[in-house]
Amino acid sequence: MSETSRRPPPLRVGMMGGTFDPVHHGHLRSALEVREALGLATLHMVPAPQPPLRDTPRVSAAQRFALLQAGIGDACGLVADDRELRREGPSYSVDTLAELRQHYGDEVSLVMVIGQDAFLRLANWDRAEQVFGLAHVVVIARPGYPSPWPSALTELVGHREVSSVSELMKRTRGGVLQLELPSRMAISATYIRQRLKEGKSVRYLVPEAVEQAIFSGRLYQTGE
Ligand code: ATP
Repeated sequence: MSETSRRPPPLRVGMMGGTFDPVHHGHLRSALEVREALGLATLHMVPAPQPPLRDTPRVSAAQRFALLQAGIGDACGLVADDRELRREGPSYSVDTLAELRQHYGDEVSLVMVIGQDAFLRLANWDRAEQVFGLAHVVVIARPGYPSPWPSALTELVGHREVSSVSELMKRTRGGVLQLELPSRMAISATYIRQRLKEGKSVRYLVPEAVEQAIFSGRLYQTGE
């Protein structure tokens, strides 16, 4: 047996950023299924305190992080990661990927997991081209979002797209894979905030622990 064939396959680690305002079953079920599909040891779910391309959330980053922790509960391999809460200034995913790359080292396959809606805006991100030098990008199909890519995104992605997990994992970074997960859920945090504002039920849209924390903290229940 050669030295290379005896080496264990590189560890696979994922990062899913978001506002999580609040976390819901669309996030959590996707996280679990993408972790399984890619064979990730750990998927870091990272709330952004100040998402650069959207309005400041009304619920604090610490509260959104606490909801995320409650939502994840004891789910294997999913980790609520508060590293962006500990950083000053706007939350740029490229900085988070650089931190994770530094933490896990060069040999690891690092994957940024992103929903289709967010992916369509990738070319507008700060230092978007640096993402591919740090990680793969895996795009989760989301009901209700158009699939044509803006031309800037097509240009950014170039020839990076692959069609399978095994092809993606031949390298540790730099690929793009679009993934159809078994449970596509048309749930959004916007819909949940709207329902809470109107005093309507969010049962079965969010985990029970999240629903309880929302009510005990009186979150999202007043008009914007
Ligand atoms: P909002 O409605 O406030 O825009 P959201 O529900 O899209 O929020 P985010 O926190 O912005 O939630 O999303 C974090 C990440 O999770 C993004 O990459 C987003 O595309 C993805 N995501 C959110 N909801 C779903 C879903 N139902 N299925 C798959 N991916 C999702």
